[in-house]
Amino acid sequence: MDVTNLDIAIVGAGYAGAAAAKALSDLGARVTVYEQASEIREVGAGIGLRPSSMDQFNRWGIGEAIKAVSSASDAFAIRTADDHPIAREEWPEKAAYGETTHLIHRGDFIEALVGVLPAGMVKLGHRLEKVVDTGAGATLTFANGETATADLVVGADGIKSLVREQLFSQAQPVFAGEHAYRAVIDVADTFGMTDDGDLRMFIGRGTKVYLLPLLHRGQVSFDITALSPDATWAPAITKADVLATVEGFDERIVKMTEALDMATVNVRAVYDIDPVDTWHSDSVVLIGDAAHAMCHHQGQGANSAILDAGALADTLAAAGSVTEALASFQATRKPVTDELQRISRHGWTEDELDEVFPGQKPGQVAATTGA
Ligand SMILES: Cc1cc2nc3c(=O)[nH]c(=O)nc-3n(C[C@H](O)[C@H](O)[C@H](O)COP(=O)(O)OP(=O)(O)OC[C@H]3O[C@@H](n4cnc5c(N)ncnc54)[C@H](O)[C@@H]3O)c2cc1C
Repeated sequence: MDVTNLDIAIVGAGYAGAAAAKALSDLGARVTVYEQASEIREVGAGIGLRPSSMDQFNRWGIGEAIKAVSSASDAFAIRTADDHPIAREEWPEKAAYGETTHLIHRGDFIEALVGVLPAGMVKLGHRLEKVVDTGAGATLTFANGETATADLVVGADGIKSLVREQLFSQAQPVFAGEHAYRAVIDVADTFGMTDDGDLRMFIGRGTKVYLLPLLHRGQVSFDITALSPDATWAPAITKADVLATVEGFDERIVKMTEALDMATVNVRAVYDIDPVDTWHSDSVVLIGDAAHAMCHHQGQGANSAILDAGALADTLAAAGSVTEALASFQATRKPVTDELQRISRHGWTEDELDEVFPGQKPGQVAATTGA
């Protein structure tokens, strides 16, 4: 199939949409990205880009640009609430890809992805209201009154995806019974706990505290994931509420929490979705969180979005038709993300570690996953 004849419309300029735009435009397709927001923004927090994602960036020629705004990390360490070791393991897949995990600020990451797209490819202020699948293509209608048609529509519109809801599944996101509190703080305020560059997770009483060093910025992403019955998408939370979640933790973690400027803390209830049976028709396909939003306990949502973009481009380049490519894309990616969705529903209490590392006791576990 000649991909250069395809008009592709991507809905959403998050990690999935921006990465797909890069991958598909590199193939020579005519790509337009429609984003509802009036500017490209991300929350103040860090994530870990895995070796397989780094490999994908190298294939797109943007590996060095990503490295320039991230910190290489050797390992992921799981520790008790009072800072005793449970496990420390080098990032998996290092040897397979010749790359390690890179820790990056979410804002720097989206800028690095969108920044390599040709001017005009991303149309801001385009909130999709309706998608109609016409078989050989699809038509999009936006809240600003504009419409667009394309041979292929890529729904990269996140966990509350309208493309998914209108064409593939009416199932709603599922509350995980947790909140995530995320902020970026100065490395000087972390009592040297992150100087070695390891991503650390401290667990106790249902709370997970992540310290994700962004040493190139002199900062650390400080993330608390804690149990809560409040399913409000963006709950109203006070400093006292956050402090209660780290009661009994190492006093340095308590002090970091006390010092938080609540105006800079991103507060979100944690949601995922159940696996979606079908991700595609003959001319519309879901990728990223729209297809498989997962809890963040394995740190695989954004990484999966990147691998989706790479796999979609690979299958389109290899297949004889769009239909064949989309079937092949789902067959390649869905078994992987179904499993990640399943294990990501588990938190990281010591009992739950046994589910991820069966038969091993804390202290003996080989950490193969991280935040
Ligand atoms: C607390 C937390 C911690 C996380 N930590 C990690 C981590 O450490 N590692 C990791 O890999 N992942 C992590 N994730 C997951 C990761 O953030 C997501 O998987 C990732 O952002 C998904 O990218 P996406 O592009 O699919 O969706 P999104 O980032 O949600 O992007 C969707 C885009 O579509 C746009 N959009 C939505 N609706 C419309 C519409 N109707 N019209 C036009 N545009 C629309 C949105 O404005 C947005 O720009 C975490 C998530 C959370 C909540």
